[in-house]
Amino acid sequence: MALTNRSIQVDRKPMTWLESIYLWNIVKGMAITFSHLFKRRPTISYPEQTRSFSKVFRGLHVLNRDEEGRERCTACGLCAVACPAEAITMEAAERLPGEEGLYREEKYAARYEINMLRCIFCGLCEEACPKDAIYLSQTFAPANYGRSGFIYKKNDLLIPNPLTEPEAYQKALGEKASKN
Ligand code: SF4
Ligand code: SF4
Repeated sequence: MALTNRSIQVDRKPMTWLESIYLWNIVKGMAITFSHLFKRRPTISYPEQTRSFSKVFRGLHVLNRDEEGRERCTACGLCAVACPAEAITMEAAERLPGEEGLYREEKYAARYEINMLRCIFCGLCEEACPKDAIYLSQTFAPANYGRSGFIYKKNDLLIPNPLTEPEAYQKALGEKASKN
């Protein structure tokens, strides 16, 4: 009994001579290939060309600084607690006298790492952060040959200093310009 009414009877009659040399089918196939020369290409020449991401795209993390170039992160650990993939590791340190220009709060992250192989780019770390110290940017983690290349250290994540590298800072800020 047929499960649907869409079944088609297979044509089992012997092939003609023309059909047996497959010439007509080759011509039909070439015509389809040729017709694509005049169609708009659905692909782009990456990496020379890139597509713009959706506004809600969540990419590579950035550790943010304030307008004076000080690191915002106070190593409270809320992002690590919120992370469902346990991808964030950090070590806190006390700010010393004279370091007020480097770190905004009395505590800072001496070590901050994100394992991008674990990360699912859910954005919960960004939501959990009370200091606007981490956000997910509009870029993605580049490919790498080794697993260790996907462990992003603090220096890989930290945004350039807006006072000493304003252009690099604006570029890294990208779509999140309204965050600061
Ligand atoms: S985006 Fe999600 S999975 Fe990735 S580090 Fe942040 S909280 Fe963890
Ligand atoms: S990034 Fe934000 S939530 Fe995570 S430790 Fe730093 S201040 Fe706390």
